[in-house]
Amino acid sequence: MSAFLALKSGIIYGPVSSRRFGMSLGINLSPTKRKLCSMNCVYCQYGPTEILQATAKDAELPKLSDVIWSLEQVLKQDTHLDQITFSGNGEPTMHPEFPDMVEWAIQLRNRFMPKAKVAVLSNGTMLGNADVRTACDKLDRCVIKVDCGRAETFLRYNRPAKGITLESVLDGAKQLKRFYTETLLTAGRGGNSNPDERAAWTEIIKELKPVEAHIYSIDRPPAVGTLKLVSREMMNKWAREATDTTGVTVKAF
Ligand code: SF4
Repeated sequence: MSAFLALKSGIIYGPVSSRRFGMSLGINLSPTKRKLCSMNCVYCQYGPTEILQATAKDAELPKLSDVIWSLEQVLKQDTHLDQITFSGNGEPTMHPEFPDMVEWAIQLRNRFMPKAKVAVLSNGTMLGNADVRTACDKLDRCVIKVDCGRAETFLRYNRPAKGITLESVLDGAKQLKRFYTETLLTAGRGGNSNPDERAAWTEIIKELKPVEAHIYSIDRPPAVGTLKLVSREMMNKWAREATDTTGVTVKAF
């Protein structure tokens, strides 16, 4: 049996209890049979990205009408939710109708669950697209992956599709009105947490000024087996020191 996390089998999943976001209902805008992503992160919980691609085709993706219907069925049940999160089997902003999905999710939230936040967890590779940025700016929480501060580390750690660079992701993020960052820290060979990496990351966070920077480590076997967990003690220390240096609230989870 694979040690990787099983792919989500439908459009809606959860709700799951999240340390960061409370009771969170997931929306999967990717196919159910494979991961759809513009990155191939060394730690990905779904294992390697078999087809690395910068954009997605409509035919294999869930339809807007199905997403609306599925979300409405769950929200009507009046289950307590803190957040509705676009995430799932890959990169949600690659769905060509992501901006419409956001509009509808916000409308349904307003109607059925007005206190819940609507959020996206994104790798930021579509932020060069103005429509995606506009949609992200409508969300309560737009969380962008920033795992490192060096271009070469980005290439070996996040292993993006051709043409995607750390600079292109950061340029897109800088054009958002407000956003959070998330960083998956690992130790061991191929990790991103040695002192040089840490210094470069801290500089980037200082420059980006996210609402908050979230750091966490792996909790299941990564795609690359040489990576190791970063201890809770080390993450807490990192968060305290980075908060002091950057002026940004850095939280360890
Ligand atoms: S961006 Fe997310 S889904 Fe894509 S490879 Fe990285 S961790 Fe996996």
